Amino acid sequence: MNSQILDGQRVAEEIKDNVRNRVYEYEQAYNEPITLATIIVGNDKASKTYVKMKSKACREVGIHTMEYILPEFTTDGLIQIIESLNANPSINGILIQHPLPKNIDEKECFDKIALEKDVDGLSSHSFGKMSFGEDAFGSATPTGILHILDFYNIDVQGKKVCVVGRSPILGKPMAAMLLNRDATVTICHTKTKNLQEEIGQADIVVAAVGRPELIKKEWLKEGAIVIDAGYNYVNGKSVGDVQNPSGVASLYTPVPGGVGPVTIATLLDNTLIAAEKQQALIQTKNYGGKQYIKEGIK
Ligand code: NAP
Repeated sequence: MNSQILDGQRVAEEIKDNVRNRVYEYEQAYNEPITLATIIVGNDKASKTYVKMKSKACREVGIHTMEYILPEFTTDGLIQIIESLNANPSINGILIQHPLPKNIDEKECFDKIALEKDVDGLSSHSFGKMSFGEDAFGSATPTGILHILDFYNIDVQGKKVCVVGRSPILGKPMAAMLLNRDATVTICHTKTKNLQEEIGQADIVVAAVGRPELIKKEWLKEGAIVIDAGYNYVNGKSVGDVQNPSGVASLYTPVPGGVGPVTIATLLDNTLIAAEKQQALIQTKNYGGKQYIKEGIK
């Protein structure tokens, strides 16, 4: 099998070029910047690296960031910050880097993010609306995976897709998004009886596990498409959740250079869309300045 790479870097560059142009147009039209608030709680090194990469990408396309780094914090304190960002008309999007420390009630905090600013689709409200196919931001990684599929004209309708992993930020929203595109979706997790068999039946495998090379090359159906969202460090090297599927898969995302860069580009795109929608609302509904943000968009 002649395997081809789904080049995430290329997809990300295209999204970023588009965002950069639209950010410029936005600033010309409204004479104000677009701003993403980023929040890190705790001392997780990987989280700090991810947020640094996201902030750098924001700067590259002209999006401003307001960064909160909170080494030790409480649920109540974090909720206060989220509510003040919801009410701040200069903030267009809110990103809370996960995982949060164990002492923080993650769900309670995520659910406080205003729908129109939830650019990483973290709240139950966003997840619910996205699952129903309504207007809401989906989590950036699975949304980014859809961007990869679209870039390469991969139609999932009627295809058997096996999503391995069911986390609220990746596996579950991924499955909902694929279902919305009429794929036949199987979700696997630690209690799945025969993972190898499930994977062997799939036309498309989405790996979102966090276990280096858990999915073996020989488990894959000949010609399957492999999307590997996994990002694991092994002996100083980044490794996916799937053994390099070259020779068996028809198309696959490499690690690094696959899903990762598209996730970041998608976050920028979502932040811009959030700002554009907030402006459209101000223009069309004349909410009296930007006070609408205090009430939230109804
Ligand atoms: P997570 O919250 O730890 O969830 C992992 C999921 O994998 C869980 O649903 C778990 O099942 C399942 N799982 C674990 N071991 C398994 C096994 N042996 N067999 C079958 N299922 C198994 O992880 P996550 O946040 O979704 O992240 C998953 C991976 O994606 C990680 O490598 C992470 O670094 C990467 N990631 C990448 C990006 C990106 O931008 N590229 C963004 C986010 C995450 P249970 O539910 O039964 O426990």
